[in-house]
Amino acid sequence: MIRRGYFNYLLTLEPNFDKFLVQANNIYWHSEFQPEIMYKLYTFFLDIGLRYSEIPTNESKTFSFSFDDNYMSWKGLSNFDHKLTFYLNTCQYNVNFDETAYVRSIGHVSDYKFLPLKDLCDLGSRHNIGFHGTKHHKHSRTDRSILVNDFETQELFFRKIGICNVVNQYAINYGMRRFLNPYFVKYLRQKNINIVLAEPGMLKYTNSQFINRYNWVDSISFENNLKLMTFNKHFYLPITPYRL
Ligand SMILES: [Zn+2]
Repeated sequence: MIRRGYFNYLLTLEPNFDKFLVQANNIYWHSEFQPEIMYKLYTFFLDIGLRYSEIPTNESKTFSFSFDDNYMSWKGLSNFDHKLTFYLNTCQYNVNFDETAYVRSIGHVSDYKFLPLKDLCDLGSRHNIGFHGTKHHKHSRTDRSILVNDFETQELFFRKIGICNVVNQYAINYGMRRFLNPYFVKYLRQKNINIVLAEPGMLKYTNSQFINRYNWVDSISFENNLKLMTFNKHFYLPITPYRL
């Protein structure tokens, strides 16, 4: 449990602390993770005066939690009272699914567990489902027509299986601005779909046209994650020896 005392402690190290964390803090996971870290983060952000946003946003003084690809661990989060956002791929529900190619494309090597279709429907009735493409294409290397078709196939699929909480956000595969396909970006804009990126250290761009997220790394400390998240990298350096 993080108490207000921790915030006061941060203020003694950096009197302007409260000015740094007024940005939109969108955190995401795309592999197995420890739910208690998420609860700890939730308490920490609330304690320093941020508001939980049920979908990733650029609004200042907010934070949100989301997941990518074909996330399996959401069942451990049943005690969390708010909506989370899952940007999912859906090629695994096709009859001609190439499992090896897909698992490679999301950077896993073996033992990848897929979300069964009935669990996807259950997930979509309780949480938000965002677009992440039917397949996990690298956009910069893919033709616009393939990306459009891939998107429309996913849109149709969500409609067909009756997911009610589909949000108008598309998390770009691999998350990087440099992988954007300008023609596909234009297409998404015309459809009023917000583009979501995942670039560490970019959360400062709250007025940017893209929503930025930070990939929380469970293998490094809480403070080091905060340090990587923030735009002011020097600010967090003095507090790294401190353990929560
Ligand atoms: Zn992904």
